[in-house]
Amino acid sequence: MKILDANRIKADVAKLIADCLITPDRAVTDALRRIDTDSELESVAAKLIVENNDIAERERAYCCQDTGQALFFVRLGDGVSCVGLHDSLNAAVREAYSTARKSVADPLTRLNTHDNTPAIIETELVSGDALEISYLAKGAGSENMSKLYMLTPADGVDGMIRSVLDAAERGGRNACPPLVVGVGIGGVTETACTLSKRALLRPIGTPNARADVAALEKTLLDKINALGIGVAALGGRVTALAVNIEVAPTHIGMLPVAVNLQCHSLRHGTVKY
Ligand code: SF4
Repeated sequence: MKILDANRIKADVAKLIADCLITPDRAVTDALRRIDTDSELESVAAKLIVENNDIAERERAYCCQDTGQALFFVRLGDGVSCVGLHDSLNAAVREAYSTARKSVADPLTRLNTHDNTPAIIETELVSGDALEISYLAKGAGSENMSKLYMLTPADGVDGMIRSVLDAAERGGRNACPPLVVGVGIGGVTETACTLSKRALLRPIGTPNARADVAALEKTLLDKINALGIGVAALGGRVTALAVNIEVAPTHIGMLPVAVNLQCHSLRHGTVKY
């Protein structure tokens, strides 16, 4: 059994969060630096986002005012023991968000928890003696545009395409594009939703290992960009930088499809033990 120290994890995760809130995914910023567009407005909007991210990094400032709700995706090996892991993740959020916006409130009373806890922790039990903790900051603007479609098996791949395009068309303008579109297909309702978020952790430009899924990602990316929403919804070619799909086996009578529209402020990172 590998024994891990919860205090060390707390310190590592607090640093990870602080860094992510300042520096969004560099591959997204680089893609915006190299943007290929014939729209002047889109080009200016891309330059402004890049400038914003460069200033944030230089001045150690938050790249967006909405520092989001803290999500963790934990892969916990069954040969790992870490007493206090749950509390250490929340303590890391408390510490890292001490100078950031506190965005978490009770859903009925709307009273703020004042420290951005509780974190949302998705845990997957795997075999082995490794622990992997991925953090994702989710702002409300893009998360509010998420959709779940409970299709029938007969809807097939055409139905999946229609659903993702519907989500992008209806929500893309409000989700601070250019987007990274996370899609979860299969499992039950929560599986699809979780997969659509986990998909955002995959580096942009890295297709799914399954050839048929990778082909669907490419088809969807082309179709979403053909919508013409563009950077900052000012019209243009680059509505999305990537479509990342994750799949899981599902019941023969179901076809759940979840779509998570991620804004350009993609803040995530991973620590491994
Ligand atoms: S959607 Fe993203 S970029 Fe837009 S305000 Fe929210 S966190 Fe910031």
